[in-house]
This record gives sequence, C-alpha cells and structure tokens, in this order.
Amino acid sequence: MLAPGATIGILGGGQLGRMTAQAAARLGFTTHIFSTEDNSPGTQVTPHVTVADLDDSEALARFAASVDVVTYETENIPLAALDAILPHAPVRPGLDVLRVTQDRLREKDYLRSIDVATAQYREVTGPEALGRAIRDLGHRAVLKTVRMGYDGKGQVMISPDINPVQAWTAIAGAADSAGLAILESFVDYRCEISVVVVRGTNGSLANYPAVENQHANHMLDTTIAPARIAPELAMRAEAIARHIAEKLNVVGVLAVEMFVTHDDEILVNELAPRPHNSGHWTMDACYASQFEQLVRAITGLPLGSTERHSDAVMKNLIGGDIERWREAVAEPMTKLHIYGKLEARPGRKMGHVTRLVPRH
Ligand code: AMP
Repeated sequence: MLAPGATIGILGGGQLGRMTAQAAARLGFTTHIFSTEDNSPGTQVTPHVTVADLDDSEALARFAASVDVVTYETENIPLAALDAILPHAPVRPGLDVLRVTQDRLREKDYLRSIDVATAQYREVTGPEALGRAIRDLGHRAVLKTVRMGYDGKGQVMISPDINPVQAWTAIAGAADSAGLAILESFVDYRCEISVVVVRGTNGSLANYPAVENQHANHMLDTTIAPARIAPELAMRAEAIARHIAEKLNVVGVLAVEMFVTHDDEILVNELAPRPHNSGHWTMDACYASQFEQLVRAITGLPLGSTERHSDAVMKNLIGGDIERWREAVAEPMTKLHIYGKLEARPGRKMGHVTRLVPRH
C-alpha cells in the first residue's frame, strides 16, 4: 500500500489525466504526468511533468524511475512503451488489460470467451473479405478499424449503396499497420448505457449505477445518471461489468459501454480501462468520484463509496459550447468543469457541466 506523499505517474496529459491528478492531490499524493504536448490540461495541475513522445524509451524510463506506480488516461499506448516502464514501476491496470482493450477484435473475442454478449462481428482484412462479411452479416453494419478508434473515428456505416472497396478506402487511412478491421452488425438499440466499475489490489469490487449516454456527432453529449431503465436491466448491466472487471483482473477503473436492444438484450460495445467521460458526473454526485477511486485502487488504499447523494445530468462542452460557461456558473445546482485547453476547436472536449438533483 502506498501512503500519501508517494508519487503517481500518469501517462497522458488530457482532461482525464488532469482530473486524476486533482483527485490524487486531494489525498496527498504527488503526481508526475507524461504528456506528448506542452501545456496540456494535465500538465497545468501537476508538480512534475515530462513532455516527450511515447516512443522515447529513455524519457519513459526516467519518468517511471521517478514514480511509485503508473496509470494511464488512454488505452492507446504502444505496448513497447510499457517495456521501458515496467522494470521501474508497476502499471495499473496491467498489461493484459491493455492488450485486450486496445484491439477491438481481441476485445470482442475475449468478451465472447467469458460469455458476454456482443453484436455479431467478423474480422476483415481487405475489400474482398469485407464483401464476404457483408454477405454474412447483412448490409446494416458498421466497419471499424481494430485499433486507435474513439469518438466514431475510424468508422464507416455500411449501407446497400456503398460498395466494399469504397468502405475499405474510407477507413484504410486510419486502419492499423496490419490492415485489420472489424465489421459489426448494426445494433438497433433502444438506448446506450455504461457502467463504471472499480477494483482494488485485493480484489474488492464496486460499481456506480448504470447510466444512459446520448451521443451527437459520434461523441458523448449527455449522460443521465442513473439510466432511465428498469431496475432489473440495470442490475444485469452492472453484473456484466463486474464480471468483466473480475475476469480481466483489473486494478483500477473499467468502463463498460453497452447497447440495450428493443428486446431488453444487453450487448457490450466497448471497454475502457480508465476513467470514462460517462463517469464524470460521479465527481459531483457521489461520495467518491471515479478519479478518486482510481487513485485509491492503484495505491492499494481501500475503495471509497460508489453511492450517489444526487441524481445527475452531465453535459459535455464541446468546441464553442465552452462559451456557455457563463450561464452554467450562474446556476446554483450546476457544477462547472473547464479543462484548460487553450483553443476551442470544433469537436474538442473543452469542459463539462453536471446538473445535480439531490435524492432527499
Ligand atoms: P465506438 O467507437 O465503438 O464506441 O462507437 C461510437 C458510437 O457509434 C457508439 O456509441 C454508437 O452510438 C455507435 N455504434 C458503434 N457500433 C455500433 C453498432 N454495432 N451498431 C449501432 N451503433 C453503433
């Protein structure tokens, strides 16, 4: 168990790294953020910073030697970077979790192997294989790159009027070097939900309630906590997320994104072994936030409570939305979070607001 005063290394200087560092500081830990960019949101709130690329093994080794444990804000970390880190400090969640979650095909194969339902899918290696996969799964499907996809990047919707060569070309630039992609059946879902689970070094497990996620332009727009679904469905979703965290031996935070179908089936879409945008509401509505839980889990402290004292609606401030900070800051039951990004480019997550509804 690490005690306050120990140093937590965080790979990534975006808003997730920033909010993790803020939670760590509150518990008396020091943080060292490894960021690929100068003056990123994370680097503004931590006493120790390394700015370097993730293929700079010397910088990674120096960073790792200066900390007691390493965590990350994105699963898209080259595994070679871990070779430089692991001789010096443990990485939590560990290597096996990263291997599974940074590859959509491996992730779905893994989920099926532990009896978790997903959309139908096929591995696709080029336009001919894509043609065969479309004949197999039907024309209502989504083609995705296996790696590095997020917020709808590296995805193309298949329809009867798009031919396989066109579709392949559309994602080929983003496809990973192995030229691998995945074709998934389109899920005609009733809603999208997610569950954030936290698991400690001793295997203790806790989860936040299932929340409902609404997207706009392929990005999370709004999270409604708790999800407006039947309690039996929410319990099933939470049990699935706990099952995955246990099987994967996660130490830290795991977010599980799921579709709820019109027949009340739950299909897992994606895993993220880190704090998740759909868990930001926990900062203001729960006794311990997902960021505090991550810090507790990776340092070996007991987990905090995932209970909520308020229901909440979290809305992202994307691009020019950030100008709405003035109205948000004037609402008494609204909590405003701004990430410190200097330029409000379209599609960039600049901050979020959480509107609270106390439960009693
Ligand atoms: P992802 O990058 O896999 O999280 O996908 C981003 C968003 O695209 C999801 O949150 C869904 O709204 C949509 N999406 C992804 N896969 C599917 C699918 N198989 N069927 C229907 N919608 C999907």
